[in-house]
Amino acid sequence: MEYEYKRKNFYKEADEKQLAAISEYAEGYKSFLFASKTERGASATAEKLAKERGYKPYTFGDKIKAGDKLYFINREKNIFLIRVGSEDVSRRGIKIMAAHVDSPRLDLKPNPVFEDGNLAFFKTHYYGGIKKYQWTTIPLALHGVVVLPGGKKKTVCVGEEESDPIFYISDLLPHLSQEQNTKPLGSAIPAENLNAIVAAIPEKGDEEKAVKAAILKLLHAKYGIEEIDFQTSELCFVPAGKPKDVGFDRALISAYGHDDKVCAYPEMTALFDCDSKDTIMAVFADKEETGSDGVTGMQSRVILDLIDSISRGLGADPILVRYNSKCVSADVTAAYDPAYADVYEKRNASYINCGASLTKYHGARGKSSTNDASAEMVGYLRDAFDKAGVIWQTGELGKIDIGGGGTVAKFIANLGIDTCDMGVPVLSMHAPYEVISKADLYSMHLAMIAFCEA
Ligand code: MN
Ligand code: MN
Repeated sequence: MEYEYKRKNFYKEADEKQLAAISEYAEGYKSFLFASKTERGASATAEKLAKERGYKPYTFGDKIKAGDKLYFINREKNIFLIRVGSEDVSRRGIKIMAAHVDSPRLDLKPNPVFEDGNLAFFKTHYYGGIKKYQWTTIPLALHGVVVLPGGKKKTVCVGEEESDPIFYISDLLPHLSQEQNTKPLGSAIPAENLNAIVAAIPEKGDEEKAVKAAILKLLHAKYGIEEIDFQTSELCFVPAGKPKDVGFDRALISAYGHDDKVCAYPEMTALFDCDSKDTIMAVFADKEETGSDGVTGMQSRVILDLIDSISRGLGADPILVRYNSKCVSADVTAAYDPAYADVYEKRNASYINCGASLTKYHGARGKSSTNDASAEMVGYLRDAFDKAGVIWQTGELGKIDIGGGGTVAKFIANLGIDTCDMGVPVLSMHAPYEVISKADLYSMHLAMIAFCEA
């Protein structure tokens, strides 16, 4: 008998009740996503949702017991949600789901303000892997915080309300693009050209840099910030606006930041909704898009210290707890795109609507720089998903030696925890507006519940 791996299309398999659940679940996700454009936004939204469900802040060393619902926020940018189970944590370990909540964007430089051609601009430094040409001539919103002398913080969010202005990066008109058109895609738009227009009305009487003077005056009046305060800020431009349904049938969602909030949201809802006696942890990590370095990234000791602290709080040996823990590194993968079929290997690609995709390994150059999950770990997940009737698929990112990618999986596996990647397939990953399937999103939620309940 010839073996042929046939994926199931969740929309085809779903009954009326499931179809309704798929579209209802997507509405909750869209609200979450709109409120969570940055890692700070996502951490704050998760905290709010957790508090509404009775979750309490946790500090290292706190006494804890079965049934506790806790959260730990690492410097406003990385949140851990924890459900303490009644099962023996030494024997069962912790079920960890780890997604990241930072997304590619344009950060402001420390000295961002300049004026040229009667326009005032903010200079940016891109964060994560972007195709620079995609960030010109689209509506941008400004998000972030400014720390004032003495430590007081101002939160900034401009461009998301219907009545808000937006910000804009120009591109060359086709009439004068003869030379630009001959350049490779990667170098046609230099990073130093990604300067966003922020103002154009000059200060009266001022001869030199009158627009810059006017915008600085306006910023001082509105936010109490001076030019020097940009040096102690974290501000970024992200695509403005709300997630939108795609297609006449509304099967898909277009939005900024699906990578990786489309996995962060399901792991959170699974933690909230599952029926499990195990101790469960959902991680919203920062800094994944720049390599997981830094104090709020998954290479930081904080996750290790947290597992240690929770273990001790329950009177368990942290070494034993880690060894018996299991982790789903919940991160997106590439969805097969018929327009660029030649970069995918069709038998091992992930397809829209066929469910969350289990990815045994990412990496590049012969599986370098990856957590390559064991057959046992993949088997454990397969049993969990199949027992729960989850529609899921398995796939690689793309053809061998054509590129590659990484996730937080290897950093958690390096702590001695069995880890496997799984996530929602995304079209146009890292573009200002990415596309996912509502069915795949809901499949991820069901898969994470199945993992928690396994
Ligand atoms: Mn990702
Ligand atoms: Mn990414």
